Amino acid sequence: MTHSKMRLIVASNNSNKLREFHEILGERFDNVSMHEAGIDADIEENGTTFEENALIKANYVMNACHCAAIADDSGLEVDALGGAPGVYSARYCGRHGDDDANNALLLRNLEGIPAPRKARYVAAIALVRSGHAPIVCRGTCEGEILTEGRGNGGFGYDPLFLCETGKTFAEISPEVKNAISHRKRGIEAVLHALEAEQ
Ligand code: IMP
Repeated sequence: MTHSKMRLIVASNNSNKLREFHEILGERFDNVSMHEAGIDADIEENGTTFEENALIKANYVMNACHCAAIADDSGLEVDALGGAPGVYSARYCGRHGDDDANNALLLRNLEGIPAPRKARYVAAIALVRSGHAPIVCRGTCEGEILTEGRGNGGFGYDPLFLCETGKTFAEISPEVKNAISHRKRGIEAVLHALEAEQ
């Protein structure tokens, strides 16, 4: 007997995240973007934790489409800044999604702080389906913040984020990033929880 794949809407408008979700989820689900599902919304992320925001996004999309949805809320926590930019990572500089200005502000705020400036990427992943309790899991990836950017790949804070490979997230291939990233680890944890239900 063949089982049809579960249709899963990836609740993000961030093309970089959508690409990573598709690469990590692979062929397991019938992955559909919000755009493909006909949802054109800028969902207000007014939670105070990554988990709350991931659930806000996933629930919004599930309620709009009556279909299972997966969302992440992610960001960078820097120890020397008390965990900032944290849930405000995308709008650290005051404007949403201005990666260059976010990176410049991060470097300014870390001026004079010696290496290693320990940091981690965090991703809370929420999977919601009607009639089931939500599954929410967290993935993290430890690293440190350099004094200048290196590499042309990735997005966001990636050129400044030195990971366990000794390279920044902008210097490694998508395959290597997707093997060790916070998003990969959070999604894997959600998939394990889903399998454990069956
Ligand atoms: P969100 O869309 O509200 O979850 O914001 C996530 C923000 O965190 C992004 O805009 C980036 O600034 C940062 N971020 C999260 N994951 C990554 C990553 O894998 N690389 C670089 N920056 C990231």
